[in-house]
Amino acid sequence: MENLKKDVTSDVCIVGAGPAGMLLGLLLAKQGLKVVVLEQNSDFHRTYRGEITQPRFVQLMKQLNLLDYIESHDHVKIPEVTVFHQDKEIMNLKFDTLIEGESYCARLTQPTLLAALLEKAKKYPNFTLLFNTKVKDLLQEGDKTVGVSAQAKQGDQINFMKDEIFEGELAVNAAVTVGVDGRNSTIERLGNFELDLEYYDNDLLWFSFEKPDSWDYNIYHFYFQKNYNYLFLPKLGGYIQCGVSLTKGEYQNIRRAGIEAFKEKITQDLPVLSTHFEGVQDFKEFVLLQCRMRYVREWAKEGILLIGDGAHCVTPWGAVGSTLAMGTAVIAADVIYKGFQTNNLSLETLKQVQRRRHEEVKLIQGLQLTLEKFLTRDPVKKELAPLIFNLANKMPDIIKTYKNLFTREKPLDIDEVFIFEDDMVENRQPSIVV
Ligand SMILES: Cc1cc2nc3c(=O)[nH]c(=O)nc-3n(C[C@H](O)[C@H](O)[C@H](O)COP(=O)(O)OP(=O)(O)OC[C@H]3O[C@@H](n4cnc5c(N)ncnc54)[C@H](O)[C@@H]3O)c2cc1C
Repeated sequence: MENLKKDVTSDVCIVGAGPAGMLLGLLLAKQGLKVVVLEQNSDFHRTYRGEITQPRFVQLMKQLNLLDYIESHDHVKIPEVTVFHQDKEIMNLKFDTLIEGESYCARLTQPTLLAALLEKAKKYPNFTLLFNTKVKDLLQEGDKTVGVSAQAKQGDQINFMKDEIFEGELAVNAAVTVGVDGRNSTIERLGNFELDLEYYDNDLLWFSFEKPDSWDYNIYHFYFQKNYNYLFLPKLGGYIQCGVSLTKGEYQNIRRAGIEAFKEKITQDLPVLSTHFEGVQDFKEFVLLQCRMRYVREWAKEGILLIGDGAHCVTPWGAVGSTLAMGTAVIAADVIYKGFQTNNLSLETLKQVQRRRHEEVKLIQGLQLTLEKFLTRDPVKKELAPLIFNLANKMPDIIKTYKNLFTREKPLDIDEVFIFEDDMVENRQPSIVV
């Protein structure tokens, strides 16, 4: 078949339709910019990713006046976390004790969140999303990036060339290209961005099981047991999702020893799971998440910016990745919008995103590195961890750590044009006409 070629011109080309890419696209489209989002997958389906949102997410959505809208979609609120050591409760933290006002984590699946953002965004005709479109290269003019080239296969094409489906090679020209393509970012590689930090020492092994009758569904649990440490999160539909904390490489040894040995260790730690494991014959239901932390040294180059996991991937501790990525998307929207308004999209302008996000990202990464040491790696500190949790409710420094991990002290400093009105978007006039 002939490989068709097409050129598209946009203000901003966004590579990746994860939480950060979709929120950035929505906010910029709301301001009237012509936005093209390219996503390599054919839909938003994700297995075991970004399912938990935090009080920090609630704060962000409240600030944008999107909370009620997002919460009109399927979700489960989780108002507290409880930590157990060998079945004995050693700590309970109610999220609403950390900040004023209602505060909770929520189980909100990534497909649900992304579909909700798309629902809002597609009302703007200047917003385009192409699924099944994989970015292959950057378009360059000298040292400046002026867009991307991508291969589009048949798939949903939101607001793109009415009624016509394009399949072939696509060149998207843009004043700004934003790489929001996740922890294995192609844009990071193509743009020769350098890493400042790369840390990987632990894994989480995920599986899900039907909620036992004795289980409190609305609580997020940690268990320090004899063989392993476990994280339990309520999942939609009456299920519990469990993450078994492992050291890097430990899973290969577990697989070598066989499923029966693994089942025995888990059920020894948690007899309540015996019924679930009766039916488990192999490792098929387990999904391994490598707990990687990364930080790109400089997020911007001429014409191009990295944000979200592509710029600052965090580990799963505290379930903060999506919220942090979306926070950066909001700041990126503010910087890019003002850059268009003042006709200044220079490297110095794009660099403001990192300057404005560095502190929060580094705070979270620092807290996670400390937590990792206590929760998994160092055998001596691991023994101390239950004691620390036990004292946690009484020690202001530890409470402050939770507060920093789960909440943001101040709202993000953004232009109020990004705050959504309660009415539907169709009636609003874009504030930039392109
Ligand atoms: C197993 C797992 C569990 C997690 N659990 C949580 C949790 O409970 N809470 C939480 O807050 N965070 C969690 N995270 C982290 C969270 O998912 C990420 O921090 C968040 O999704 C980052 O958002 P993003 O938009 O930056 O990138 P991503 O969500 O990774 O999105 C990047 C998108 O770019 C697309 N893409 C990549 N390359 C290309 C290309 N070349 N062309 C076109 N498209 C491309 C990808 O398909 C993807 O859709 C988890 C992560 C994993 C892996």
